[in-house]
Amino acid sequence: MTPPGERPRVLVVGAGAAGQAAAWELERAGVGVSVFESERRAGGRLRRERLDGLEFEPWPAFTPSAAPQLTALRDEWPGEPGVVGHELESFALSGRRGMRRRSLHTRASVHPFFLRWARLARAQSIAGWLGSEPDPAHPSRHARLDDRSVREHCALYLGRNAHDELFAPLLALLFGVRGAATTRQLPLMWMDAAANLRLRWWERLGEAPGELSRAIGVHTGRAVRALQPGGRGAWLDDGSLVDADAVVVAAGPRAVPGLAPDLTHVEREFFEGCETLSGLRVAVSAERGARPPERLCWSPDGGAGDLAGILDVTPTEAGPEPERRLLLLAVRPERVERLSERSDERIAEDLCAQARRLVPALGQAVREASVLRESGLPAFPVGHFRRVGLAEREASRRPERRVYFCGDYWVGPHVEAALASGRRAALKALDALGLASA
Ligand SMILES: Cc1cc2nc3c(=O)[nH]c(=O)nc-3n(C[C@H](O)[C@H](O)[C@H](O)COP(=O)(O)OP(=O)(O)OC[C@H]3O[C@@H](n4cnc5c(N)ncnc54)[C@H](O)[C@@H]3O)c2cc1C
Repeated sequence: MTPPGERPRVLVVGAGAAGQAAAWELERAGVGVSVFESERRAGGRLRRERLDGLEFEPWPAFTPSAAPQLTALRDEWPGEPGVVGHELESFALSGRRGMRRRSLHTRASVHPFFLRWARLARAQSIAGWLGSEPDPAHPSRHARLDDRSVREHCALYLGRNAHDELFAPLLALLFGVRGAATTRQLPLMWMDAAANLRLRWWERLGEAPGELSRAIGVHTGRAVRALQPGGRGAWLDDGSLVDADAVVVAAGPRAVPGLAPDLTHVEREFFEGCETLSGLRVAVSAERGARPPERLCWSPDGGAGDLAGILDVTPTEAGPEPERRLLLLAVRPERVERLSERSDERIAEDLCAQARRLVPALGQAVREASVLRESGLPAFPVGHFRRVGLAEREASRRPERRVYFCGDYWVGPHVEAALASGRRAALKALDALGLASA
């Protein structure tokens, strides 16, 4: 325990978006914070890569439009990383009738037959009731809507087209998950009261972790090996022991059972049962002529190919006609495992060939390509949030244990969710330390 007169110390495990949000909140409350990150740089999945001299984010941040945590944090950010949010209005959909523009409005998709308006009214009342932002204080809220997949929800209220032409493309392209296997809770949290999707793309967000790390002081390349019972500190990979008054664990669900010695049976079951996926994308730098029709292009080819679509992540500061374009080729979530077994060269070659259907100019225009892999992504299957609710309730029964878990998997597959849960974990730690109002 902290000697009288000294600042309490909180240890944060992991410097992804969640860990950094927690550390920032604790730091501002006057607590001594030590952040340990096993990788050589901070940011976790929110990181920047370099290709052909251009910087880009392999998993660019698309969040629900109402992203209060991100907006607030951006306004307070040290170093002004220049993060800009763009509202996503539409994307391009290629099909038998050529390339079409698809808006994010669900209305156009509703069943063209019997009870059409009753179904839409029901879908709208569900969307309006749930609210259009992830609520970190109640990640398990409305658990009874965590009972169907996105595809089932569309079949009931919005029509199969809404799934095939709107939800499935966005879920696959942006978050790497399948509509047929994802809880409807996720897109419901991103809908406004008229049941339309509201998403925002955050440009240059990947620069923020570096700026925050400089302000907070993150120990990179230092993995935490195990926590002390009750959250009294942790052992690092070099065998040293760091004392603390509380610990925030922002290291992903798979790491938790190996780190925390005093999980209850229910918690262990939750963390070990958290379904995860692998992500695979090909980043391509191309001559300027390889311009897709929209920032997002989806390729519904009946599942025959591996390509889900293209994300144009050319930095906007490169001007209206930049010299080069930066494109991310996204793999269909159901094809990732199978494709992963191939060599990088083969994956890049196959994906570029398939992408030519959406951007014919790509054939001659590719300058460089790089395969990006990620594992341990939260899958958000049906029932996920009910399990989150159980784990939360279980943790609240252990007030003597000062260990607080956070990460995107508590709220949603995006940065806003990670920030929200990190901030909430910090507030719980402050509360336990008697500093809640600081
Ligand atoms: C395919 C894909 C698509 C995505 N799409 C979007 C999107 O459209 N919109 C959006 O906003 N976001 C998107 N992201 C997700 C977004 O990047 C994440 O939601 C967010 O960054 C998760 O942050 P986190 O802090 O919860 O986890 P992470 O970023 O995974 O951070 C966990 C950190 O803990 C560290 N760690 C693990 N074990 C230890 C240990 N023992 N000791 C110390 N450190 C440890 C890890 O190295 C890592 O840095 C996407 C990600 C992927 C991969």
